[in-house]
Amino acid sequence: MSVSAKEQEVRRSLPNKLSDRPLRGRIVVPFMVDESRDPIDFKALDEERLKQCAGQRRCGICGRKLKRGDTYAFIGPVRDLLCFDNPWMHEVCARYSARHCSFLGDGQRRYRDPADADDELLAPWLGELAIYLAPTGSVHRDALSWHFQPHGRVRQVRIEVAS
Ligand SMILES: [Zn+2]
Repeated sequence: MSVSAKEQEVRRSLPNKLSDRPLRGRIVVPFMVDESRDPIDFKALDEERLKQCAGQRRCGICGRKLKRGDTYAFIGPVRDLLCFDNPWMHEVCARYSARHCSFLGDGQRRYRDPADADDELLAPWLGELAIYLAPTGSVHRDALSWHFQPHGRVRQVRIEVAS
């Protein structure tokens, strides 16, 4: 089976860590997303993968481990947010997602559903988003969801939205 020229071109443009992830069109399917769904739903996370991210300190996008000394990146609404239900990421993976993900960054105007405003979990994601960068992180799970938390000095980088 040959890889199409278009796919090769897309793969060449990806950060190294993401070059072997599955693609849907031009977009990388994040490690944390349930990739068996067709059509893909980027909001449907895979519970097994979340466990691996938490227990083995794997990145939610590329699935590789965060190593000692790596910056822990998180994406979420702009507010005093010190807890995320989505896994930590490598900084390079978070920046890729902010630019290309169908639910974040450039894609958000097309893909975000105004109906999500009625959903308590999704509503905050309709506002302005940021990347949070921290020296390390911790995680725990309660009955409702995962809580991935940045630790140490946290920096916030606003995600630019193309209009
Ligand atoms: Zn990564």
